[in-house]
Amino acid sequence: MSTSPFSSLRLVWLYPDLLSTYGDRGNLQVLAFRAMSRGIDVDIVEVTSDKHMPTEGDIYLIGGGEDGPQALACERLIADGGLARAVNRGAVIFSVCAGYQLMGSSFMAKGQQYAGLGLMDIQSQRGETRAVGELAGEVDPRLGLPTLTGFENHGGRTFVGPSAAPLVRVTAGVGNDGQTEGAWANRIIGTYLHGPALARNPALADLLLAWATGRQLGALEDRWPEALRGERLAAVLGGGGKGLGRGD
Ligand code: GLN
Repeated sequence: MSTSPFSSLRLVWLYPDLLSTYGDRGNLQVLAFRAMSRGIDVDIVEVTSDKHMPTEGDIYLIGGGEDGPQALACERLIADGGLARAVNRGAVIFSVCAGYQLMGSSFMAKGQQYAGLGLMDIQSQRGETRAVGELAGEVDPRLGLPTLTGFENHGGRTFVGPSAAPLVRVTAGVGNDGQTEGAWANRIIGTYLHGPALARNPALADLLLAWATGRQLGALEDRWPEALRGERLAAVLGGGGKGLGRGD
C-alpha cells in the first residue's frame, strides 16, 4: 500500500538554489533510478526557496550547504511551514549535513545560533575543528542496514536527544561527536554523509523507498554501487581507523 494519494512516487528536492553545494542532488537521482527500476513511477518536484513547499510529497530530500544559505533556507522553511505539515502526514525525509542540522531545535551558522525546524530531537553546536574526510560505521540494528560509508565536511557537532536515535556507531571519522553519526526518528533520517550518501549506500536508498511505498523491494541487478561501497570501505577501514577523517 502506498502512503501517497498519488499513483506515482513524489520525490521532492528542497531548495536546489541554496542547498546544493555538496553534490547531494545525486541522492535524488539514485532514489529515482532505484524506484523506476522496480517499475515504480516517479514524479520529481524541485522546489526553489522562493516557492511554497508542497505538502503531498512522499520523500523529501534536503542537502548540505554553507552556513549562509543554510540559515536562509531554515528561515524560509520555518516561515513556509509546508515541510512540517508533510512530516505530520507521514512523509519520509532524508536530510544531509546542513539539511540534517536544521531538522533539530537549533544550530550554529556564521557564529550565530539559529532556531531549527524542530522536526527531530537533535541540536547542533560549532566544533573546535572542521570534520573533513571519510566516515564509516555500523547502523542502528533496528534499521537492518549494512555498514554505512560516506564523506563528511562540516564544522558542526550534533547532540542527539532521547526522542531520536543515533543512526550510526562510528568506526572511522567524526560524525555527530566522534562516537555516533546522524540520527533518525519515525520516518526522518539525518546524516552528515555526502558521497552522495545514497549512491554509496544503496540499501539506505531502498529503506527510504520501502518506507514511502509500504512495499518490500526486490534486489536490483546493479553491481556498481556495491563495487563503490567495497572500494570506499577498503580505503577507510584499511587506512588508519578512527582518527581518519579528522581535519580542520
Ligand atoms: N554549514 C554546516 C557546517 O559546517 C553544514 C556543512 C555541510 O552541509 N556540509 O556544519
